[in-house]
Amino acid sequence: MKIYSTMSREKEDLKSLFKDKIKLFVCGPTVYDNAHIGHGRTYISFDTIKRYLEFKGYSVFYLQNITDIDDKIINRAKERDVDSKLLAKKFEKRFIEDMAELNVKSVNYFARATDHIDEIIDQIQRLIDKGFAYVTETGVYFEVAKKGDFGKLANRNIDELETHRINVDSSKKSPNDFALWKNREAPEYAGEPVWPSPWGAGRPGWHIEDTAITEKYFGPQYDIHGGGLDLIFPHHDAEIAQMEAVSGKEPLVQYWMHTGFLNVNGEKMSKSLGNFITIRDLLEKYSGETFRLFVLATHYRSPIDFSEVSLHQAEKNVARIKNFVEVIDEKIAPKLTGDYAYLADLSDSEVREELLKFDYNETDYATLKEYTTDFFESMDDDFSTPKAIAAVFSFIKQFNKDDEDLAIEDLLAIKHWFADISQILGIDFLAKEESASGNDEELLNIIADVRSKLRAEKQYDLSDEIRDKLVELGIEVSD
Ligand code: AMP
Repeated sequence: MKIYSTMSREKEDLKSLFKDKIKLFVCGPTVYDNAHIGHGRTYISFDTIKRYLEFKGYSVFYLQNITDIDDKIINRAKERDVDSKLLAKKFEKRFIEDMAELNVKSVNYFARATDHIDEIIDQIQRLIDKGFAYVTETGVYFEVAKKGDFGKLANRNIDELETHRINVDSSKKSPNDFALWKNREAPEYAGEPVWPSPWGAGRPGWHIEDTAITEKYFGPQYDIHGGGLDLIFPHHDAEIAQMEAVSGKEPLVQYWMHTGFLNVNGEKMSKSLGNFITIRDLLEKYSGETFRLFVLATHYRSPIDFSEVSLHQAEKNVARIKNFVEVIDEKIAPKLTGDYAYLADLSDSEVREELLKFDYNETDYATLKEYTTDFFESMDDDFSTPKAIAAVFSFIKQFNKDDEDLAIEDLLAIKHWFADISQILGIDFLAKEESASGNDEELLNIIADVRSKLRAEKQYDLSDEIRDKLVELGIEVSD
């Protein structure tokens, strides 16, 4: 399969470094606020990428850091007069909960920056020893000029370094040099979290946490590094410089994958611009499945414009696919006789196991063969989920047109494909539409009680009006 790497700016054949194992690292969130749906977009994309790689037979270890020490966290904690560690813990917990709501559960290990201070200090010391970093009274800095190919990922040279992200500090040899360790002993930093180090009490810079973490769990080289487009420069170029300088090995990773932004009116959704919708707020209105299909309807490298219209469309599309699976179930049910009768007695999960026996690659049903091929060719082409999803809808359309009386084996093969699609996209199309919750049922009982009292009092008009409104909502009412 092909995978686009930002480094070569080409689609390359995927080759894992070690047999069928893939080491995947994706930059995690800075936990100072609720995650917004732009974060959701990036993490749904990488979750789906991991799911597909696993589907292809790779064993993927997905590592993600949590930036739980940073200026933004410290400033937010000061504003709210709370402990910065507690603030970071709270939003880390919320982040993981939000991800679970989006069915993003594929990260194998979350590595907090503050749990890796020893590794960070050790890596900085090796950079100093090798002559790539120097110490000043304000901290330790990476000397960008010492790494001749700095900026190779973004294709920028040192002069283009965005110095706005870097504090102007006269102790540095060059304004481009970035902090590995920030000394925080001066009185103006009193109360901020610090760790002891050979260069004074302080805290790590942002870029070094990732390479210290990936070196610990993956070693000096690994397969895939991901993140949003905004992280290419200087963050990912800084990571390359640090790790390649410390290990003397190139390249740091085989493939650099970057997600496009979720935009609002053409602008990146971000906390700092204030144009964001939190995942929690979105989930009040739409399901996690709807948001996943909304995200996956666009290629992971392309921008997505946030719109309610597209979300509504995604909601309808989830329902369309689920309804189709129900149609298939209805066609299967009367054919569960003879050799297949046993399937009728199995639980849903047991049926899913059994479906594996019905290979859609071996089917005689040409339409199924055509569109499954389309689906997987699209996924193999740099995870083109929009084309893959389009193949699903084209299949449904053609299936309806064909209007054939298919053999049970073909119907089960279709269901097998939809089980695989569900697994890959992280949307369970085989699950029935959610039934009324306990609360909804209680509410309906109350309404039924009110209606019978109205009828007992011969207030038929009002009782009928309530019934008609319930029917409009799709709720069946029998008197
Ligand atoms: P942050 O917490 O801001 O460091 O972001 C965590 C991850 O989410 C990074 O990979 C960002 O690139 C990504 N991200 C942030 N905002 C957006 C957005 N509007 N669209 C897509 N990805 C985003």
